[in-house]
Amino acid sequence: MNYRHAYHAGNFADVMKHAILARIVEHLKAKEKPFRVIDTHAGVGLYDLSADEALKTGEWHGGIGRLLGEDGRRIPLPAPLPELLSPYLEAVAAANGGGSLMAYPGPPWLVRHLIRRTDRLTAVELHPQDHAALAALFAGDTQVKAIELDGWLALSSFVPPKERRGLVLIDPPFEERDEFETLLAGFVRAYRKWPTGIYALWYPIKNIAAATALRRGLHESGIPKLLAAELWVRERATPDRFNGSGLILANPPWRLDEEAKALLAGLMPILADDAGAGWSVEWIRGET
Ligand code: SAM
Repeated sequence: MNYRHAYHAGNFADVMKHAILARIVEHLKAKEKPFRVIDTHAGVGLYDLSADEALKTGEWHGGIGRLLGEDGRRIPLPAPLPELLSPYLEAVAAANGGGSLMAYPGPPWLVRHLIRRTDRLTAVELHPQDHAALAALFAGDTQVKAIELDGWLALSSFVPPKERRGLVLIDPPFEERDEFETLLAGFVRAYRKWPTGIYALWYPIKNIAAATALRRGLHESGIPKLLAAELWVRERATPDRFNGSGLILANPPWRLDEEAKALLAGLMPILADDAGAGWSVEWIRGET
């Protein structure tokens, strides 16, 4: 396990993923019934943008740094971005105590900030050091369980949650050659156990063939209500580069497809590196 998200926190892919994640949590809050978010590859929860790792890559400058002035002042965003991004940007502001951008919240912090008193978060992280940081961040918080475990094992064991309502975020590091296959198989197995949950599966757009095979495999699984949202910051086929990322959403909340289209259309010009940038939101399978 060499991957450390501290090098990448707040980059363009995090902005897209976390903005959509925040919208899903807001939709879940529209009903009174409590829900649970299960994050299978959680990271440390909160990232220091002045740490050596973040300074070394500077990736956040091309992501959250472009959305917010780096001294914490908001740049004017075109409609409807302010409304759609407000839960996400409000959480980023809260993680910085309302001051300038020094820290970036990963999903555990973001979700914990957005959920209600009755909702719960299970955050799973296998790296012992990262798990220790995650556990320390939520020490004494009865709404959050930070668990040191293999996320693939958690995925098959923790669904359905006792609330029978909620979201599973699956965000592996893609270090292993077969991680696309593991993602597909792990999701399908979990879905069979809990077909009414919302799932968000993240993947990089680096090797287009792998991303295409994932989408084909999902289509062939026969699972209904699968939406794919992708954003790339340069030509998708640029070799050996992390050109973009995608989120597969199973059972997305009603109208999330429209929100995702508006979000990505607005974010793409801000996050683009060159004229090869683009986005798409497509149903792999609609309702059956
Ligand atoms: N979800 C985080 C975010 O959006 O900010 C980042 C996740 S990062 C892509 C992947 C994380 O998974 C890393 O923190 C890594 O240590 C952890 N990890 C790697 N293999 C794992 C496994 N088998 N089970 C659980 N966590 C794992």
